[in-house]
Amino acid sequence: MPPTQIKPTFSWSQIDTILLDMDGTLLDKYFDDHFWEEYVPKIFAETNDLSDEEARKILLQRYQRVESTLQWCDLDYWSKQLDLDIPELKYKVAHLIKVHPYVTDFLQYARSINKTVCLVTNAHSKTLKIKMEKTALGSHFDRIVCAEEMGYAKEQPEFWNKLERHLGYDKTRTLLADDTEKVLRSANQYGIGFLLFVARPSSRIPVKFSREFPSITYFNELIT
Ligand SMILES: [Mg+2]
Repeated sequence: MPPTQIKPTFSWSQIDTILLDMDGTLLDKYFDDHFWEEYVPKIFAETNDLSDEEARKILLQRYQRVESTLQWCDLDYWSKQLDLDIPELKYKVAHLIKVHPYVTDFLQYARSINKTVCLVTNAHSKTLKIKMEKTALGSHFDRIVCAEEMGYAKEQPEFWNKLERHLGYDKTRTLLADDTEKVLRSANQYGIGFLLFVARPSSRIPVKFSREFPSITYFNELIT
């Protein structure tokens, strides 16, 4: 049986700071899935004289080796590893970068009720730049933090300690929304007060609720 939705029960009066993940949470993860699983293997196959299938197999194995680490998000690392200009390739398919429904409405709402809103992403600064150029979401945030600045990925509990010192939030009055359960677990271990799972990271994959954390499909569920 697929898990049913655990509905969020917090009230906004309990929260001062909202931390939002980028890929899959605010932006459609279809772009990233397509880029790494289809587009890069296709280019890698062409430049290395492999079949698409062989290239895909090789790359998926290499991705797995660095999963949940900063290296995984480091475009310079992949440019070197694969001998391809990864940022340039991202620009080539940048038309696929899309903001999820109701995200802009929610960001405006969060402002209107005086919350501090921060974008907190594992994405590399070059990815962040492409995505902010493409979506123009940047002006909605009080702060934008890339995990590379903290020296840890969000899946590592040390990340949250560093982030707290950097942003100066009260963790008991902070909400984190993310589409990766491993990130929510690490934030939970650190003591972030309110955790929320985003159950539809990609527009091409059906909704899947978390068994552990309250979930939303779209951010309009938080506009009260
Ligand atoms: Mg994400």
